[in-house]
Amino acid sequence: MKDHNQTRKPGPRTRSIHTGRHPHEQFGFVNTPVYRGSTVLAPSMDALMNREDARFVYATKGTPTSEALEAAWSDIAGAAGTVAVGSGLAAVALSLMAALKAGDHLLVTDSVYRPTRHFCDTVLKRYGVETTYFDPMIGADVEKLFRPNTAAVFTEAPGSQSFEVQDVPAIAAVARKHNALTIMDNTWATPFFFPPHERGVDIALEAGTKYLGGHSDLLLGIVSANEKAWKKLRSTYDAFAMCAGPDDMFLALRGLRTMHLRLKEAEKQALAMAHWFAARPEVKTVLHPALPSCPGHAIWKRDFLGSSGLFSVILQPAPQKAVAAMLDGLTYFGMGYSWGGFESLVVPFDCADYRTATQWNPGGPALRFQIGFEDLEDLQADLDEGFKRLRAAS
Ligand SMILES: *Cc1c(COP(=O)(O)O)cnc(C)c1O
Repeated sequence: MKDHNQTRKPGPRTRSIHTGRHPHEQFGFVNTPVYRGSTVLAPSMDALMNREDARFVYATKGTPTSEALEAAWSDIAGAAGTVAVGSGLAAVALSLMAALKAGDHLLVTDSVYRPTRHFCDTVLKRYGVETTYFDPMIGADVEKLFRPNTAAVFTEAPGSQSFEVQDVPAIAAVARKHNALTIMDNTWATPFFFPPHERGVDIALEAGTKYLGGHSDLLLGIVSANEKAWKKLRSTYDAFAMCAGPDDMFLALRGLRTMHLRLKEAEKQALAMAHWFAARPEVKTVLHPALPSCPGHAIWKRDFLGSSGLFSVILQPAPQKAVAAMLDGLTYFGMGYSWGGFESLVVPFDCADYRTATQWNPGGPALRFQIGFEDLEDLQADLDEGFKRLRAAS
């Protein structure tokens, strides 16, 4: 960005347009191109042997494409540094590996993304890290679960599938007091709706697969850190060479330019649908952080700057075959995992299958919706027919 000698810090939309681009370095072309490569040639033997200060050394350590993406994300997230990895789950794994060592104790929210739980219960366990899961609504009382060897707390707000909004600032304050790192999976809100490092998070991760990509056509993970955790994160990343592919990073940079606009539209669409669901007789409750019916709604109001396109709906009790009749006939809602793209999705879920610290007993079938950019009237008409099938098969 040119320095216009302005005192005003540019707003999120301005920054998402101008950050991480250097047209004058590439013949004036607006976007940083895809740099493919492994070898980076040195101009002399001396330069080869003293490469610590070189901007690029080898492609696993960075390319102009990764540098542009990582610089842009650091700007948007308010981070000291960022690395891009091959998937959201790789970002989870890298965050945990950067924060922990053998003999450490880890605290993880019971509402965490299920594959994160799997990583803790298998790989981390094998490497001598013990995990304790905690009630997502625990807040500052998480202190009671701290042990002398607790090295990190893993939060995710709101929770995957069940949408409890955690008190991240309170949890981070306790962690800081005990010299532990706070890690947050910030995929739902993104830094635009929850600036993680400003709120006390040391290591924040994002499944770039979701809103950053935004078009259901790539896999990417982003991990950012504050000053305190950046060195640990970067050196762990370098040790693994978990680098993302150049095409995916290019697409992510392209996605970044419209991410704020897409999020605002996703927010509007999802809020309209959440209110529509709340008024349906077939619906028991709506788990959307911006609705008072969601656990932690007051915390969302206090800490978040917006809400995105994903939420859950608990139906009135109905047999599984009736839910299947409803979902199987939908036209515009695809059934599949992931989210954050342009299209609407739905998946049934049951947290009771895996929770250990809390009970999940919502009192009816649970459905998670990702609301896309279709016309609301079409989505509602589609679901209206779905509810007819549900009632007929109940
Ligand atoms: C999808 C998701 C991930 C993992 O991202 P992938 O790119 O699919 O591996 C991690 N955390 C949350 C909250 C997610 O929704």
